[in-house]
Amino acid sequence: MFDTILIANRGEIALRIQRACRRLGLRSVQVHSEADRDAPYVRLADAAICIGPAPSAQSYLDMGAILLAAEASGAGAIHPGYGFLSENAEFARRVEEEGLVFIGPPSGAIARMGDKISAKRAMIEAGVPCVPGYEGELRADASSLPIARKVGFPVIVKAAGGGGGRGMRIVRAEAGLLDAIATTREEAGRAFGNPAVYLERFLQTPRHIEIQVLCDGHGHGVWLGERDCSMQRRHQKIIEEAPAPGVPRELLDRVGARCVEACRHIGYRGAGTFEFLYEDGELFFIEMNTRLQVEHTVTEMTTGLDIVEWQIRIARGEPFPLAQHEIRRDGHAIECRVNAEDPESFRPSAGKVTRWHAPGGPGVRVDSHVVSGYVVPPHYDSMIAKLITHGANRAEALARMRGALAECVAEGIRTNIPLHRALMDDPDFMAGGVSIHHLENRLRMDH
Ligand code: ADP
Repeated sequence: MFDTILIANRGEIALRIQRACRRLGLRSVQVHSEADRDAPYVRLADAAICIGPAPSAQSYLDMGAILLAAEASGAGAIHPGYGFLSENAEFARRVEEEGLVFIGPPSGAIARMGDKISAKRAMIEAGVPCVPGYEGELRADASSLPIARKVGFPVIVKAAGGGGGRGMRIVRAEAGLLDAIATTREEAGRAFGNPAVYLERFLQTPRHIEIQVLCDGHGHGVWLGERDCSMQRRHQKIIEEAPAPGVPRELLDRVGARCVEACRHIGYRGAGTFEFLYEDGELFFIEMNTRLQVEHTVTEMTTGLDIVEWQIRIARGEPFPLAQHEIRRDGHAIECRVNAEDPESFRPSAGKVTRWHAPGGPGVRVDSHVVSGYVVPPHYDSMIAKLITHGANRAEALARMRGALAECVAEGIRTNIPLHRALMDDPDFMAGGVSIHHLENRLRMDH
């Protein structure tokens, strides 16, 4: 049984994992790059190890360096956080082979869900509703035409190995299909080392709804409600909430139960997320994330469960004690991702945060590694804080978020706080249920 966890990540999520370790009385080992050496959260860990220079490829993505750090520090387990190596099946496998515990699902489940064609096949087998499409490898020749015709235009050609919103191409009519397949195959081969592409119907104005699951290593799993993450720019979420406004409870209950069933089917363990598009009153699976997500916080606020703590306890072999009907869903929670970027041009804004003041008060939670004087390095993701509010209902959570955004001070760098302030008064967002195109449409109209 491990008593030391190596945290293979940085920033707010590293601190979040440290907090869970402390709560459980476990030792934390924080790895860091040269650029993060002086970050306050690095000093808060029980031990810190430098694993390389600033660029991620030479530090947070360097499997050998991280495994060496685990060995040197006596860590028995590795928490990968999100991003970086968190969904890398090879890394999970190497951790397992070293006799360490990977705090996440078995490497085989990561590999299976990481290939979107095999993921969709597994979901269809488990009875999870999917976007209608073709779950096979497409060829850039005439054999693909009847396939696309049957699915119905417009279609979207997607790379089986794609991620981060890359490796996708919308095709509106038959004439563009073969070129789109050829180009996407070529790009996918270069970017993901796997040229396989498949196809599904392109939904015009969907919402992004996702379902959080948690499974222990003893065959018991639950789903912890859903989240609406439709407020996005370039496929990057910036606001998330739970529950999803206006989505029928009965539909969610049915699909949630299917997701738990799918987990059993693929031998899943730990926390995971099933992502869906929601259109015309139906949910359609698009992919599974086999890791902790940035927005897990809104689910924690509505269920009262500490998901990171449960990831660790499950990895230690503990059974999860609650049955599905014992999972609470209290009130409403909203999260705003604060990014160090210009609120209009969206250009990253690294540098020294000369003054930082986090908001507070009832129903307000701030997950952030920033302190006054912290220097945001230019090498990594621009998110510097998550503001989360909870209320008895959506109106109260929104009102608390307005207050939190008014109180929040970040000087010395540019942030997207002004954009969040504007979005809290956006009539469509206030009404609830905007589509994934809402933010980009709004930004276009502003210019
Ligand atoms: P990634 O792994 O790159 O995030 P996803 O399969 O999750 O890829 O898709 C990313 C985004 O692309 C979705 O959130 C949605 O905005 C859009 N998208 C994907 N599939 C479809 C589809 N069938 N119809 C419409 N939009 C889609």
